[in-house]
Amino acid sequence: MIEASCHCGAVRLRVASAPVTVTDCNCSLCRRMGTLWAYYPQSEVEFLEAPDASFGYVQGDRSLATHSCRTCGCTAYWVPIGETPKDRMGINARLFPPEIVKAATLLRFDGADSWDLLPDEGTAGPV
Ligand SMILES: [Zn+2]
Repeated sequence: MIEASCHCGAVRLRVASAPVTVTDCNCSLCRRMGTLWAYYPQSEVEFLEAPDASFGYVQGDRSLATHSCRTCGCTAYWVPIGETPKDRMGINARLFPPEIVKAATLLRFDGADSWDLLPDEGTAGPV
Protein backbone atom coordinates (compact mmCIF):
# COMPACT_ATOMS: atom_id res chain seq x y z
CA MET A 1 0.00 0.00 0.00
CA ILE A 2 1.23 3.48 -0.75
CA GLU A 3 -0.27 6.76 0.26
CA ALA A 4 -0.54 10.18 -1.38
CA SER A 5 -0.91 13.04 1.08
CA CYS A 6 -1.35 16.78 0.74
CA HIS A 7 1.05 18.96 2.73
CA CYS A 8 -1.11 19.25 5.84
CA GLY A 9 -2.37 15.65 5.69
CA ALA A 10 -6.08 16.50 5.54
CA VAL A 11 -6.42 14.84 2.11
CA ARG A 12 -4.88 11.42 1.69
CA LEU A 13 -5.38 8.64 -0.86
CA ARG A 14 -4.28 5.03 -0.52
CA VAL A 15 -3.59 2.67 -3.43
CA ALA A 16 -2.27 -0.88 -3.66
CA SER A 17 0.66 -0.22 -5.96
CA ALA A 18 2.99 2.50 -7.19
CA PRO A 19 2.30 3.95 -10.64
CA VAL A 20 4.46 2.63 -13.49
CA THR A 21 4.07 5.92 -15.35
CA VAL A 22 3.27 9.49 -14.35
CA THR A 23 1.85 11.96 -16.84
CA ASP A 24 2.87 15.58 -17.23
CA CYS A 25 0.03 17.30 -19.12
CA ASN A 26 0.47 20.70 -20.72
CA CYS A 27 -3.19 21.71 -20.80
CA SER A 28 -4.23 25.11 -19.48
CA LEU A 29 -5.05 23.73 -16.03
CA CYS A 30 -2.37 21.09 -15.44
CA ARG A 31 0.51 23.33 -16.49
CA ARG A 32 -0.56 25.87 -13.92
CA MET A 33 -1.00 23.35 -11.12
CA GLY A 34 2.29 21.56 -11.86
CA THR A 35 0.69 18.17 -11.35
CA LEU A 36 1.99 14.77 -12.43
CA TRP A 37 -0.92 12.41 -12.88
CA ALA A 38 -1.02 8.75 -11.91
CA TYR A 39 -4.18 7.03 -13.14
CA TYR A 40 -6.14 4.45 -11.18
CA PRO A 41 -9.59 2.88 -11.28
CA GLN A 42 -11.56 4.93 -8.77
CA SER A 43 -12.87 1.71 -7.23
CA GLU A 44 -9.28 0.81 -6.23
CA VAL A 45 -8.53 4.07 -4.42
CA GLU A 46 -9.21 4.54 -0.73
CA PHE A 47 -10.09 8.14 0.11
CA LEU A 48 -8.89 9.16 3.56
CA GLU A 49 -10.34 12.62 3.90
CA ALA A 50 -13.00 14.18 6.03
CA PRO A 51 -16.10 15.45 4.20
CA ASP A 52 -15.33 18.91 2.78
CA ALA A 53 -11.58 18.55 3.38
CA SER A 54 -11.12 19.21 -0.33
CA PHE A 55 -12.94 21.32 -2.88
CA GLY A 56 -13.53 20.40 -6.52
CA TYR A 57 -12.77 22.70 -9.43
CA VAL A 58 -14.92 22.04 -12.50
CA GLN A 59 -14.16 23.66 -15.84
CA GLY A 60 -14.10 23.13 -19.59
CA ASP A 61 -16.37 20.27 -20.67
CA ARG A 62 -17.32 19.65 -17.01
CA SER A 63 -16.36 15.97 -17.26
CA LEU A 64 -14.18 15.96 -14.16
CA ALA A 65 -13.61 17.74 -10.87
CA THR A 66 -10.08 18.54 -9.78
CA HIS A 67 -9.83 18.45 -5.99
CA SER A 68 -7.48 20.48 -3.85
CA CYS A 69 -7.04 20.62 -0.08
CA ARG A 70 -9.06 23.37 1.56
CA THR A 71 -6.36 23.91 4.18
CA CYS A 72 -3.00 23.73 2.41
CA GLY A 73 -4.11 24.17 -1.21
CA CYS A 74 -2.33 21.14 -2.70
CA THR A 75 -4.04 19.70 -5.78
CA ALA A 76 -4.64 16.09 -4.85
CA TYR A 77 -6.74 14.30 -7.46
CA TRP A 78 -9.38 14.49 -10.15
CA VAL A 79 -12.48 12.37 -10.38
CA PRO A 80 -14.91 11.98 -13.28
CA ILE A 81 -18.31 13.62 -12.85
CA GLY A 82 -21.44 13.74 -14.95
CA GLU A 83 -24.05 11.24 -15.97
CA THR A 84 -21.92 8.24 -16.84
CA PRO A 85 -18.65 8.65 -14.98
CA LYS A 86 -15.88 6.23 -15.94
CA ASP A 87 -14.08 4.17 -13.32
CA ARG A 88 -10.86 6.12 -13.78
CA MET A 89 -9.32 8.93 -11.80
CA GLY A 90 -6.05 10.79 -11.52
CA ILE A 91 -3.95 11.16 -8.39
CA ASN A 92 -1.35 13.91 -8.27
CA ALA A 93 1.76 11.73 -8.03
CA ARG A 94 3.67 14.61 -6.43
CA LEU A 95 1.74 13.76 -3.26
CA PHE A 96 3.34 10.31 -3.15
CA PRO A 97 6.76 9.88 -1.49
CA PRO A 98 9.43 11.31 -3.85
CA GLU A 99 11.01 7.93 -4.60
CA ILE A 100 7.72 6.76 -6.13
CA VAL A 101 7.80 9.58 -8.68
CA LYS A 102 11.51 9.09 -9.31
CA ALA A 103 11.02 5.42 -10.17
CA ALA A 104 8.13 6.05 -12.58
CA THR A 105 8.47 6.68 -16.30
CA LEU A 106 7.50 10.23 -17.20
CA LEU A 107 5.02 10.62 -20.05
CA ARG A 108 4.36 14.01 -21.57
CA PHE A 109 0.76 14.43 -22.65
CA ASP A 110 -0.15 17.16 -25.10
CA GLY A 111 -3.45 18.08 -23.48
CA ALA A 112 -3.15 21.60 -24.87
CA ASP A 113 -3.32 20.53 -28.51
CA SER A 114 -3.17 17.05 -30.05
CA TRP A 115 -4.36 15.00 -27.05
CA ASP A 116 -1.53 12.61 -27.76
CA LEU A 117 1.71 11.73 -26.03
CA LEU A 118 4.68 13.89 -26.92
CA PRO A 119 7.76 12.00 -28.12
CA ASP A 120 10.35 12.64 -25.41
CA GLU A 121 10.27 10.25 -22.48
CA GLY A 122 12.39 9.78 -19.39
CA THR A 123 12.07 9.65 -15.66
CA ALA A 124 10.55 12.52 -13.75
CA GLY A 125 13.96 13.05 -12.18
CA PRO A 126 14.65 14.80 -8.90
CA VAL A 127 11.59 16.09 -7.13
ZN1 LIG B 1 -3.80 19.87 3.01
